[in-house]
Amino acid sequence: MRLSLAQILTQAEEGKYAVIAPDFTSLSMAKAIIETAEEVNSPLILSYSTMFKPMMDVKRYDKFIQIVRDEIEAASVPNCLHLDHASSLDDIREAVEVGFCSVMIDASVEPWEKNLENTLQAVDIAHPQGVSVESELGQVMIGVGYYKQKKVDALFNDPEKARGFVELTGIDALAVAIGNVHGAYQGKPEIDFDRLKKIDQQVTVPLVLHGSSGIGEKNIIKAVRLGIRKINLYSEIINSVHSNLQRS
Ligand SMILES: [Zn+2]
Repeated sequence: MRLSLAQILTQAEEGKYAVIAPDFTSLSMAKAIIETAEEVNSPLILSYSTMFKPMMDVKRYDKFIQIVRDEIEAASVPNCLHLDHASSLDDIREAVEVGFCSVMIDASVEPWEKNLENTLQAVDIAHPQGVSVESELGQVMIGVGYYKQKKVDALFNDPEKARGFVELTGIDALAVAIGNVHGAYQGKPEIDFDRLKKIDQQVTVPLVLHGSSGIGEKNIIKAVRLGIRKINLYSEIINSVHSNLQRS
């Protein structure tokens, strides 16, 4: 059952749960994720990043995505094919054309004004086609271990700025930077739950946690209680793919 990201996350908000958003790199990985979602009867936000394009099973992007769409749209669970971390508006345009039902514009490394401008343009491209938009404020870093909050405060979401950003852009979901990192955590993850609580109080749209691999079950449960509605996951899945390949 194909839904928009906004619809899936609205249902999650009503039920106070989060929906998993795993990245796939190949058709077989996409199929395994879809089968698992059906087995456990869970909604699914199946995510793809253009950085995996060189690994596509078929040469043409539109054909590849069409095959994945046919697989996921046949699934009985609520589902959405989502483009993860698009840094360019061309990627957003292309994703809308080939039939993604939601996109993430990631201009979080840019200054606030530029992030706002890019996000507004992404919304202008996507919304008229019924495609939802996620954006990120602050910065979810890659593999830097846990943050030392006072030193890198600028990398975190400012709750009041987050509210303004959401209101001005009309986005459907907001990715938060609260001490979560992409890839492996070095040391114990230190999640700023007070900040998450404040962001949730300020912002009306559902919140997204990137870098959920290795963050720990307790932290995920607490984050969902405090308003996280989409859980992005890649490293844990790809690590398990590799360890199974080694065993076989
Ligand atoms: Zn991410």
